[in-house]
Amino acid sequence: MELRRQRLSGELLDPREGFERVDVELEVRWDPLTGHTTRLVRSPAELIPRSDLDLEAAGRQFAEGCPFCAERIDQMTPKLPATVWPDGRIRHGRAVLFPNLLAYSAHSSVSVYAPELHFLPLGRMTPRLVADNLATQVAFTRAVVRSDPRSRWASINANHMLPSGSSLFHPHLQGSVDPVPTTFQRLLAETPPGRFEEYVSAERRSGERHLGSTGRVEWLASFAPVAPAELRAFVRGVASPGELDDDLVEELGHGVATALNFYAELGFESFNLATYGAPPDTDGYPLNLRLVCRSNLQPLYRSDATYLERVHWEGAIDIWPEELTEQAGDRFRR
Ligand SMILES: [Zn+2]
Repeated sequence: MELRRQRLSGELLDPREGFERVDVELEVRWDPLTGHTTRLVRSPAELIPRSDLDLEAAGRQFAEGCPFCAERIDQMTPKLPATVWPDGRIRHGRAVLFPNLLAYSAHSSVSVYAPELHFLPLGRMTPRLVADNLATQVAFTRAVVRSDPRSRWASINANHMLPSGSSLFHPHLQGSVDPVPTTFQRLLAETPPGRFEEYVSAERRSGERHLGSTGRVEWLASFAPVAPAELRAFVRGVASPGELDDDLVEELGHGVATALNFYAELGFESFNLATYGAPPDTDGYPLNLRLVCRSNLQPLYRSDATYLERVHWEGAIDIWPEELTEQAGDRFRR
């Protein structure tokens, strides 16, 4: 598989150099799975300033009245219908799952890592917390597919911190199980199955962006990232989150926690996650996920989603995947 890329260059008269002529360079890359393009750029200053806000103090402003906190969660969050889950809420370890009051899909859920963890910076994410939360989403997907067999498109997602789209400070995941796919679920499900394996094999051979394998899950720094510090993981033999067995939930929990601890070290505290499911038993489709950083929470912050991301569907990224891979080191290798 050829990983397609093209260098572009231009020139300008630079005020910082006495209006001397300087060359400017960037690189356009094509995603090997969906074909979307992205722009890797060299920014004079970091496009996402690293986090220096007192997050714990910011969290306290949102704590009063937070519906996900232990003292209010039982009264303020909705319950699942008995046909889906007789207890109304799905609990695993410290994690609790309930329906999303704002329905983004036919079956839309929210799951908190723990009602007591209103403040959970990425450096404190642990494999246990992530795996238990993922386990509630896996149980939710299975329960929905059982009660509503038309809803076959499942995903496990996250908006973490306000810049990522979260309306609540209290950290949580979100699940979606629907009769129709999102745009990206459709594009990925339409990708010929062999391309996933070709992509992962090509990256394993080159090593430039291969982060490692944790056993049954392969981790890469995305060749053509749609968003900053984009990491991708591929799970062979599983098409839908509902098909993850207990060992895979543990393995993914370990991988995602490792990634989030890595983000914290890089100075990022806000992220989005998507775990793109295809219908159960889709032949040859590997469940795959994307993790990306978002702007940090701070007053008068700059959004990382520009005209390129929002209306051209194209990334403009100053974190080059090869440098990200070097910074990640061996942490994803078992
Ligand atoms: Zn809370």
